[in-house]
Amino acid sequence: MDEAITTVNPEALVDADLGASKPVPEPKPTLAQVKAWRAANFTVRHSTVNACGHKLDLRQFPSNANCWPCWEAFFSVNPEGVASVHQLLLEGGTKAVIALHGAKFIRMFGRFLQQKLLKEYASPAVQAASGIEGSIMNVTEEKEASLGSISS
Ligand SMILES: [Zn+2]
Repeated sequence: MDEAITTVNPEALVDADLGASKPVPEPKPTLAQVKAWRAANFTVRHSTVNACGHKLDLRQFPSNANCWPCWEAFFSVNPEGVASVHQLLLEGGTKAVIALHGAKFIRMFGRFLQQKLLKEYASPAVQAASGIEGSIMNVTEEKEASLGSISS
């Protein structure tokens, strides 16, 4: 303990005091540091939807509630969310989803599911397998057809 005190250079202490009396500059983080800090502390990022230019906060439903590109982007980056809503839809029906998320939500969700299904059915592999090429098809019929092929 005593040793530690005696090793302190008094001049160094004076210098330190003088230094402290100067206006201490506020530590200003660089933009890169701020960004790194944000990335470390917030898992959610605000993204811009390319199709419409709207900013999207991925933690909540699009603030532009009537903007389809926003919803499409929102659903696309939330596969777990889509899965859980889909599960709710299967278990409780549309009423349960509307009760929880509202009528607008389910319209957008339905559109997303439909588009996803159509996209999948429109893929060359599925078209070849089903013998349908390019045309807009009846999704229900297609579903039954593929179910039939699985069971046979
Ligand atoms: Zn938008």
